[in-house]
Amino acid sequence: MTDMTLATWTAAARDIQIEGRAFINGQYTDALSGETRPTYNPATGQLIAEVASCSPEDADIAVKYARDAFESGVWSNMPPSERKMVLVRWAELIEVYAEELALLETLDVGKPISDTLGIDAPAAARTIRWSGEAIDKVYEQIAPTPGGSLGLITRLPLGVVAAIVPWNFPLSTTAWKIAPSLATGNSVIVKPASNTPLTAIRIAELASEAGLPDGVLQVLPGPGGSLGKHLSTHMDIDGLTFTGSTPVGKMLMEYSGQSNLKRTFLELGGKSPNIIFADANLEKAATMAAMAVFFNGGQTCTAGTRLIVQDSIHDEFVAMVIEKTKSWVPGNPLDPDTALGPMVDQGQFNTVASYVAVGLSEGATLAYGGKQVMTNTGGFYHEPTIFTGVNNQMRIAQEEIFGPVMSVIKFSDAEEAVQIANDSIFGLAGAVWSENINTALKVAEKVRVGTMGINNYFGGDMTVPFGGFKQSGNGRDKSMHAFDDYTELKTTWIEFE
Ligand code: NAP
Repeated sequence: MTDMTLATWTAAARDIQIEGRAFINGQYTDALSGETRPTYNPATGQLIAEVASCSPEDADIAVKYARDAFESGVWSNMPPSERKMVLVRWAELIEVYAEELALLETLDVGKPISDTLGIDAPAAARTIRWSGEAIDKVYEQIAPTPGGSLGLITRLPLGVVAAIVPWNFPLSTTAWKIAPSLATGNSVIVKPASNTPLTAIRIAELASEAGLPDGVLQVLPGPGGSLGKHLSTHMDIDGLTFTGSTPVGKMLMEYSGQSNLKRTFLELGGKSPNIIFADANLEKAATMAAMAVFFNGGQTCTAGTRLIVQDSIHDEFVAMVIEKTKSWVPGNPLDPDTALGPMVDQGQFNTVASYVAVGLSEGATLAYGGKQVMTNTGGFYHEPTIFTGVNNQMRIAQEEIFGPVMSVIKFSDAEEAVQIANDSIFGLAGAVWSENINTALKVAEKVRVGTMGINNYFGGDMTVPFGGFKQSGNGRDKSMHAFDDYTELKTTWIEFE
């Protein structure tokens, strides 16, 4: 990595050139209305840039370009081995510009620079390279039909896909959507979150530099309620892929039904259980229990916010987790030593503070943190916070807070641990910790989530699918399974004599 320091990153932040225009048909473009929306640095509350605020009219133009590009076959019919090379070149460019992208992401989201440079930028490059390299290794199928007939089962791109993404992992979430959708030959329009549009805009330009034809990938910043809704109800968009909150995900399913039944895939919220048995490696489990909640300030869909601890070790383990939490000190995200940055904006900070008040009013015990800090910076910093004495019916155990707040719940045996874990509208992720593989596997099998760790948290890579059960969504990001979301199966039946 790099010998950059707080001073050099701060200097780089002063000098960085920021592009706030939409990327439409291979060019940076102002919104037709000329309107812009400010985006702010969560660490200081200061303006970073004015960003184009696109409207439904801009979307209609982009959809037309996307459709024309798709129908022309310039990308959709490009041989897979050539599509692969464009995506691989794009991944290389993301690596070349990793420091710039990491800095943009840190300024826009407030994520620690060590995360954006060490995790987000490499993850985006890896995702694009992996999907690109896979696409010329996918074979189609021939069905087991009687003699004199051939049943060909092939996969075709959907056509034009809209990707609506959130603010908590803008770069990597966008890559999870656009890599498989482009690899399979679609044209894609990205609508980034209004408060974090910068890296999506920049990587679209890099895609063009890598040789992606005009109109195949476009990025339109703008408001979810108007631009996002217009894309979701558009009659000429064939697929919608979304990461965001469960309430908005539910609306998108309705929009699909009200319009053209576009294929709609949702990665939504979570309230993930992290189950600790008495026979676990407690040292490792405590380190990871803190990380599972405080990484990215708890603004992580898979955060292990319900720490479910066996009663016989509860007090000892909570004390260990509190010790580990002391290393999650809020700090300037441009400092390479910072692990915990600010909340993304005032609204998200207010949500976190209001849930701390809810926890206290519900009778939970505030065991650590609970306050706003670094108020003199103008940023939205909140201490890592731990509630004990939580029961699973409390709102702080049921509702997604999306901040650095852990709720500790006791259990007595495996059956109760599973019952508590599954007593949630969500089913995104979870983990179980036990040195007894029978206990661990039995619990992992019964917890209804899309990703379950055994003796780890946040485990996984590009080879495995990611997505939710229940109200955490449908469809899958990552792995070859993501290709399923962006393709239609087609049967061609041939008879011969
Ligand atoms: P959000 O409010 O649902 O917003 C997500 C995106 O949807 C934004 O681009 C937003 O635009 C847009 N949007 C809002 N209203 C819309 C509408 N009526 N029609 C179309 N688009 C609309 O979620 P968020 O607060 O940005 O992100 C946090 C949520 O994402 C959490 O619930 C988290 O768990 C979830 N998440 C899930 C995963 C996963 O993979 N399962 C990963 C990361 C995050 P504006 O920004 O303009 O409002």
